[in-house]
Amino acid sequence: MQSLMQPHPLLISSLLGHAARHHAEGEIVSRTEEGAIHRTNWAETARRARRLARVLGGLGIGPGDRVGTLAWNGFRHLEIYYAAPGMGAICHTINPRLHPDDIAYIVNHAGDAVLCVDPGFAGLIETIAPAIVGVVRAVVMLTDAARMPPLALPAGMALLCYDSLMDAAGTGAADEDFVWPVFDENTASSLCYTSGTTGRPKGVLYSHRSTVLHGYAINMADVLGLRAIDRVLPVVPMFHVNAWGIPYAAAMAGAALILPGRHLDGASLATLMNQERVSIATGVPTVWMGLLSHLRATGERLETVKTIMTGGSACPPLLIEAFGKEFGIQVEHGWGMTELSPVGTYNKPKPAHAGLDEAGRLRLGLKQGRAVCGIDMKIVDGTGKELPWDGVAFGDLKVRGPWVTGAYHGDAAASALDEDGWFATGDVATIDAEGVMEITDRSKDVIKSGGEWISSIALENIAVSHPDVAEAAVIAAVHPKWDERPLLVVVPRAGRTIDPAAVLAIYADKVARWWVPDAVVVLDELPHTATGKIQKTVLRTRFRDHLDPDRQG
Ligand code: AMP
Repeated sequence: MQSLMQPHPLLISSLLGHAARHHAEGEIVSRTEEGAIHRTNWAETARRARRLARVLGGLGIGPGDRVGTLAWNGFRHLEIYYAAPGMGAICHTINPRLHPDDIAYIVNHAGDAVLCVDPGFAGLIETIAPAIVGVVRAVVMLTDAARMPPLALPAGMALLCYDSLMDAAGTGAADEDFVWPVFDENTASSLCYTSGTTGRPKGVLYSHRSTVLHGYAINMADVLGLRAIDRVLPVVPMFHVNAWGIPYAAAMAGAALILPGRHLDGASLATLMNQERVSIATGVPTVWMGLLSHLRATGERLETVKTIMTGGSACPPLLIEAFGKEFGIQVEHGWGMTELSPVGTYNKPKPAHAGLDEAGRLRLGLKQGRAVCGIDMKIVDGTGKELPWDGVAFGDLKVRGPWVTGAYHGDAAASALDEDGWFATGDVATIDAEGVMEITDRSKDVIKSGGEWISSIALENIAVSHPDVAEAAVIAAVHPKWDERPLLVVVPRAGRTIDPAAVLAIYADKVARWWVPDAVVVLDELPHTATGKIQKTVLRTRFRDHLDPDRQG
């Protein structure tokens, strides 16, 4: 029997409509490229998004067309986040930190008709222009006429100014005329390519439905739970998985959005947080370590921040301990991936955790968290058999749910799923009796020693607890007897020297003897991907034969 409920589709335009009507004055604060502060609000953003939809229509953008962005977090980028999906087109955010060849590949693969670009990336556009001409018809610089960079583009690719286009499109009544179209909630809304530590980047094509449901999910009290009185700072870039969904979740809650632009160093973030009275901030551990160093060095305090959410890679214990003890700030840990829109798990306590002592709370906080309602997860062994939730057994983590992708852009529907409809995350994890998941590795990084698995992440976490170690990576090195053995690669802290024996000694009472790395390599720095993850593939290529004298070149 069909229900009698109203059949309103879940559309992104309705989120902005809600924010404009119920939280009109909710602030959108942006630090511009030049460093100045720009202020607007949800009502004005909604008006300008409607105007932008007309501008994009004037550039020939229609339903299903891709509008690419190469931009930091700012108000113009936010307008595109709403205008492109709102009109039935697709907002395709591109990571400018990728190699130019990869960016050109992504633009062509996505078929971006228009690229909206921060002036700071003008040089990048010039580099890739010959490779994207014929696909991209226009490059719109996200700035005013006075700051337009001089740029020579090939014939057939127009250079346009965002503010000039918006000014020419008229103001006031003309903005109110535009009505967002209503269409199927399964229509594609946005596109984001995975950072790709191996092979070519792959596109994940979100829908209005998946985006809205993900927004509701992260707004639950045991996840981010944004409120109208919050002032949220997404340090995570808007070119990385829709800034973890925050630009949409903030509109649902009516929270103020503080957008930091390209200024992501500790000093800039601390100033912005205090000036703009930020209550909650989200980003990767590297950013928070930078902020921590700045605060410790200067003695500066964060006056209003209550919660820092960290995700994207494992949370170092120091983050939770130092921010909690020295600054009274709660560090919360979440896990996700581009393919999951991105949030899959979040770490907030259950009643069973009430009696934990300080060490127990820290241990719990380092885990990646419980499945957010809507996400179903399981761990399986090499044969696909489900493993127990005992916090010990670790296996391949699989997920399914309404905001998990079924296939990559351009591939056949459901081609990324197994026969039962599960998506293999590529992460290896344990799940404990309370359902709290902990990543122990990427499946390609796990070390397979004599048929047993060793977690590289567990070994890295121990290594960085040594006072001389700034950063650590553990990789599988080929071993004549055991197939693979762990090799520890470390970077010393500034002004310190590393004694390999002393570093290895700290493993003694922490892991089984056979888990202790066979050797230590000291480097000045580790290679990182465009999203700040350690590039273990590069280390593996370089050091895979380190333990096997016969194979060393
Ligand atoms: P991306 O799609 O670029 O966001 O990368 C997703 C991958 O980042 C996941 O599959 C994990 O390997 C890793 N990741 C994300 N969040 C965490 C976390 N909290 N702890 C450890 N690894 C994480």
